[in-house]
Amino acid sequence: MTEQITYAEWVARRDSISFDVRPFINGRRVESYSSQQVQKADPSNGKALYAFAEGAQDDVDAAVAAARAAFDDGGWRYRPVFERKAILHRLADLLERDAEAFALIEASDVGKPIRDALHVDIPLAVSVLRHNAEAADHIIGGTYPTDGGSLAMSVRAPRGVVGAIVGWNFPLVLAVMKIGPALVTGNSLVLKPSELSSVSALMLAELAQEAGVPDGVLNILPGLGATIGNAMAHHPDIDMISFTGSTATGKRLMAASAASNMKRLLLECGGKSPNIVFSDAPDIQLVAAGVFQKMFWNQGQVCSAGTRLIVERGVKDHLLELVQGHIKKLRKGHPLDPDTDFGPLISEAQRDKVLGFMSLGREQGAELYCGGSKALDETDGFYVEPTIFANVDPSMTIVQEEIFGPVLSVMEFETLEEAVSLANSTSYGLSATAWTTSLPTAQRLIRDIKAGGLTVMGTGAPSAGAPFGSMPVEPHGQSGVGVEGGVEGLASYTISKTVEIFA
Ligand code: NAD
Repeated sequence: MTEQITYAEWVARRDSISFDVRPFINGRRVESYSSQQVQKADPSNGKALYAFAEGAQDDVDAAVAAARAAFDDGGWRYRPVFERKAILHRLADLLERDAEAFALIEASDVGKPIRDALHVDIPLAVSVLRHNAEAADHIIGGTYPTDGGSLAMSVRAPRGVVGAIVGWNFPLVLAVMKIGPALVTGNSLVLKPSELSSVSALMLAELAQEAGVPDGVLNILPGLGATIGNAMAHHPDIDMISFTGSTATGKRLMAASAASNMKRLLLECGGKSPNIVFSDAPDIQLVAAGVFQKMFWNQGQVCSAGTRLIVERGVKDHLLELVQGHIKKLRKGHPLDPDTDFGPLISEAQRDKVLGFMSLGREQGAELYCGGSKALDETDGFYVEPTIFANVDPSMTIVQEEIFGPVLSVMEFETLEEAVSLANSTSYGLSATAWTTSLPTAQRLIRDIKAGGLTVMGTGAPSAGAPFGSMPVEPHGQSGVGVEGGVEGLASYTISKTVEIFA
């Protein structure tokens, strides 16, 4: 039983892995054309974990050629949709079978607690695959009124070769959020995982082959953004780029599309999400637990993390005490220890970036409420303290820019007007949370909050909510472009044609 795997057993399993980080092209592992090696460090102690090739244009050309041939051959896109669905379900089954192996890779690569990797990341990835399989039947065209002399309709076709480029905070989940919709709609895919977390996507490609995905339909290219990512972005034979990562890289992809073949873009980028607490929220303990979880889960490395706490005057002091209470109980430790709640950040560069924001917060006059430094120094891992800055000014850099680490900024409001204005005061618009039982307040927020997703927490009664991946999300502002998730998200991977047939 999984629950009985001890820290020592996880470490022994990890020590026996021989990490294979070679590209997967046309159904098999191949050597990269590049001989330049990149070192991947273990987030928990800074030591070398494995090395891999930085990648080259020739790798991209080979993968795109394989994907194009598999698309043109028609063996995948003309296959009945129920067969493509069945293969995605089989892939989900295999992922469940190998959950422990995948969780071990996610925890080792990212530094996230093994408990989360096993009980959150893997089930989410399975859910995304199954949802996309089921949604495939719902992609439909339409018919249009005519004078009766013709039949006018629209049909949808796969786009062709899709290039997916993803980040590292949930490597497997981000990969299947591209693989599921791209494959079930009949496209071929070249996917580039983050250079910080390439292993699970490569393992998944092997499972996809076992599930029945034909050679060339799914290709995985590890390597750097500057080599593999950039070559994909400019490639003349990639029809669409589907991306999850920072806003800065998203903008580069837009420029690359314009400079190359006007490839279509689906961009899921950064966020600086507000968590708005109204004094009518009935249970302050529940709010504190929610604020804590929404901010510090996955060490704050979540695109939709509630990084800006906007709280009604009079509630703040008690709420912060309670949130700090949760922080004090956090067990920081090794990602492979099943008792660990809070692991290291993924890399030294990410740790230094987060520490840099903490210093900037202090320099700009924010009040450091707790944290603000490195943690578990003796490990040489990339740990930082969960940090809260109280009484920040909305114009401060720590409030405006995405930190992507465990740093919460706190602001107070008196009126609903003020709350909405503070919530909307960044360039992002990914997600937002509000704690209120007032219907008029909720209605006002639904109308005016700039966010692709809004969660309104009333009593906080336990509920699993909508299945992960089943709702369409369209980021607002500079959080991205296009729709991911749900049936509408599947449609992003198809192109529409209008057809008129005259008698
Ligand atoms: P990043 O933009 O640095 O990298 C993302 C991917 O882009 C990586 O695979 C990287 O190698 C590649 N890349 C980098 N430079 C490139 C270039 N010039 N051309 C092409 N590809 C390039 O982002 P990250 O640090 O890996 O991830 C963190 C970011 O991802 C945060 O901003 C976070 O909010 C965002 N994110 C968004 C969502 C969402 O659903 N909106 C989900 C998870 C993460």
